[in-house]
Amino acid sequence: MKIFPKQELEAKLRRINGRGYKAYKEIQACYDFGLYLLHFDHIQGDPFASPSRVCIEISREKAGFSGSLDYNPARRLALEDYLARKFAQAIQKVKKSRSGSMGSGKSGLIEIDAGGQEVLKRTALVINDKKIEVRFFVGLPALGRTIASKFAQQIFFQEIPEIVKQSLLFQNLNPEELGKHLEVVEDWHLIQSQLKEKNLVAFVAQGSVLPRRSGVDDRPLTGAGVVKFESPPSLKIEMELSQGKKIFGMGIPKGVTLIVGGGFHGKSTLLEALSRGIYPHIPGDGREYVASLAGTVKIRAEDGRRIEKVDISAFISGLPFGKDTKKFSTDNASGSTSQSANIIEALEMGAEVLLLDEDTSATNFMIRDQRMQRLVAKEKEPITPFIDRVRELYERFGVSTILVMGGSGDYFDVADTVIQMDEYRPRDVSQKAKEIASQLPSQRLKETPEPFSFPAPRQPQRASFDASRGKREVKISAKGLKQILYGKTTIDLSALEQLVSTSQTRAVAQLIYFYSQRYLERYSSLPQGIDALFQDLEKFGLDFAVPYRTGDLAMPRKFELAGAINRMRTLRIK
Ligand code: ADP
Ligand code: MG
Repeated sequence: MKIFPKQELEAKLRRINGRGYKAYKEIQACYDFGLYLLHFDHIQGDPFASPSRVCIEISREKAGFSGSLDYNPARRLALEDYLARKFAQAIQKVKKSRSGSMGSGKSGLIEIDAGGQEVLKRTALVINDKKIEVRFFVGLPALGRTIASKFAQQIFFQEIPEIVKQSLLFQNLNPEELGKHLEVVEDWHLIQSQLKEKNLVAFVAQGSVLPRRSGVDDRPLTGAGVVKFESPPSLKIEMELSQGKKIFGMGIPKGVTLIVGGGFHGKSTLLEALSRGIYPHIPGDGREYVASLAGTVKIRAEDGRRIEKVDISAFISGLPFGKDTKKFSTDNASGSTSQSANIIEALEMGAEVLLLDEDTSATNFMIRDQRMQRLVAKEKEPITPFIDRVRELYERFGVSTILVMGGSGDYFDVADTVIQMDEYRPRDVSQKAKEIASQLPSQRLKETPEPFSFPAPRQPQRASFDASRGKREVKISAKGLKQILYGKTTIDLSALEQLVSTSQTRAVAQLIYFYSQRYLERYSSLPQGIDALFQDLEKFGLDFAVPYRTGDLAMPRKFELAGAINRMRTLRIK
């Protein structure tokens, strides 16, 4: 790669000033700014198109980052995350001091994909032992469609050097704030890694703030009414953190856990925090020390979804007119068939913990009480309710469940732990629930026609993954957080509640195609192929899966990738 002195960029910009926008292509190269290298990876076609992709490379030595700061993967992730956020803040500051607009369309835009409350592995800022690489976006300035070099000079020779200085030089950062960021993310990882040895599936630290500001604002709720988390004494345990520190909190044991309590007492809020406990959070989020096992999957009903040859016979069998449920396919699932498929698909991918909330579950999937059993004979009811499988899932397959259920005490019979949310305070009522269950025995009959058969892994057909549209052989994009446009089909991801960032959605979109090209045929099943893909991503990073350098991807989990594939309306299983 040829590297030009920065004066060359200055000269080029002067030369193309006032010309048509396409002349910007002439600056696509790498320039040496002394402190860092500036790469133009992609130049936009016009001022209204997606902004240009730019990258800065700075050596750790020049930036002042000694090797001792990020000595393990958790701390490196945290350092990357922190610097990306600082870079974003510096952009805002520089933009504020501008005197006015820089022209038409996206002219003057500077953006980095720095993330929200969760700390995710992103491509926006990548650190290795030698250097820091920052990928971001710049709208190259134009007046109408003619190049406005004056503004471009301002961006590349004043603003970006200032942004780099403020956000990437160790000497200009706040060491306490940086240290805290690294510590919080590292400690979260330490907590998660201790769950299994302590026979737990999740942990919520004392003092955590679980409620969010609103359904569309993921920042912590503030104000006098916020009740901080406090563990019931019987579930209180200790976790070891870095540098000999310790923290107390509620440990949720393996097995079947019920969260009960009156409406509006904080049940769903707790479950939601556990569902997000698969990710570390930034300092101040309130959920910094809430961790659940990596294989925790939130399950919900999702009527209308497509299902392709999923064995849901453990939950549903003997449908009217003899429809097969060992290889169940439909273009329009019901509440209960969709919820069954969501569970089986999660198990196929190796889920260790299922989270279910009565708010988003199909009632007939969850319970069938004595009276209904008497009125409608089992022969006429295709559904084996979840209550009759939940213990089997744990005892035979080691899959734990945490379930919000305020509406049916029948679940007392199958629960190991019962937590009551009482004005946002958890109480351990396991003993009391057991007593009630023995005083008032449920008269319902257990309905398990046959033992649960663990799903055999399925293998997709390659033809399902045709990504072409019109003249383009590959046309894939994410549309917001919950939709992917893949070739001629649209994939609806609104039921994948643990997808938290549009950058993850973009990555999932790319990974579907990458999986179909490189892994599908080399492995004999969907879970094997996806596991192999994720092993490679762990090793080489997300860059490995995309043909060009880009800064707008974040690491998803294998469950969300499989979830997207399973929801493709074009999916066909062999
Ligand atoms: P449930 O599922 O029991 O009906 P939710 O979890 O939906 O209750 O909580 C009801 C309301 O209370 C929500 O608006 C939520 O933000 C708020 N809330 C939950 N936990 C707390 C808390 N610890 N402190 C203050 N408000 C809370
Ligand atoms: Mg609720």
